[in-house]
Amino acid sequence: MRLPDYHVHTCFSDGHDEPRAYAARAMQLGLSELGFSDHLRPRCLRHDGSYGTEQSGLDDYVAAVRETAAAFLELRVLLGIEADYLPEAADEIVAALAAYPFDYVLCSVHFVDGFGFIERHNRKAAGWRDVDQVWRRDYEMLIEATQTGAFDVVAHLDLPKKWGYRPTANVGGLENDALQAIAAAGLAIEINTSGYDRHPAGEMYPAPGLLERARRAGIQIIVSSDAHRVADLASSFAEATALARRAGYESSLRLSDRRLVALP
Ligand SMILES: [Zn+2]
Ligand SMILES: [Zn+2]
Repeated sequence: MRLPDYHVHTCFSDGHDEPRAYAARAMQLGLSELGFSDHLRPRCLRHDGSYGTEQSGLDDYVAAVRETAAAFLELRVLLGIEADYLPEAADEIVAALAAYPFDYVLCSVHFVDGFGFIERHNRKAAGWRDVDQVWRRDYEMLIEATQTGAFDVVAHLDLPKKWGYRPTANVGGLENDALQAIAAAGLAIEINTSGYDRHPAGEMYPAPGLLERARRAGIQIIVSSDAHRVADLASSFAEATALARRAGYESSLRLSDRRLVALP
C-alpha cells in the first residue's frame, strides 16, 4: 500500500478530471486512501474562470465524491475541501464548512490583501515590489486561520515561493510564530510535491529547513500532490517521503482515523 493522497482537485474546481478518473488511478497505484479537496472560494473573492466553487456549488461536488466512494468500495474515499482563508470572510468560511460533513479541511492562503500571488498572470506583478510583505501577510493570515478551529491541515506552508520570491531573514520570526500557532492548534501540515515537480519554486512546500523546524515543534505531516489532473496523483511521493525522513519524521497522519502510520 502506498501513502494516501489527500490534496486532489477535480473538474468541480480548477482540476481537469472527474473524481472517478482519480479513483481508478488511485486503485492502479495502490494508494491506501484518496481524498478530494476542491477549492472552496469565499464569495468576496471575485475570480475569473473556474478557480473554485462557492458554497452554492458544494452540493454537486459532495454528491460526486459520494458517488465515487460508492463505486470504488475497495478504496477509502474521503470528502475533503481546500478552503481559502480570508480575514474578511472568516464567518462565511466557517459556516460553509460546518454545513457539510467534510472528513477534513485544508487551510490555504492564495490571496493576500487582494493580491492573488499564486496566479500565473501575477508572477511579475507590482504586488511583488515588497516581497517580505507578501510573506508576512501570508503567515499572519495563517496564524489567524489556526484560531478559527475550522481547519485540519495547513496546505503548502511556504507557498509564496511559488514563482521564486524568497523572504529575507526579517520574516523568520513570523515563520516561527506560524509554526507555534499551527502546533498549538493541533493542525498538521502537508509536504506538497507540486512545488518540487510542477512549479518554478523547484522544491517541496515546505522547504527542508522549515519542515525540520515543524517536526521539532511537534507538527504532524501528510504527503500530498495537489493534483490538478490524474497524471499528478501521488507524484514525487518517494522524494517527499525521503525528505520527511531527512527532517526526522517516521510517520504521517492518516486522516480517515487520525492515526499516525509509519512512512513507507
Ligand atoms: Zn492551494
Ligand atoms: Zn490545491
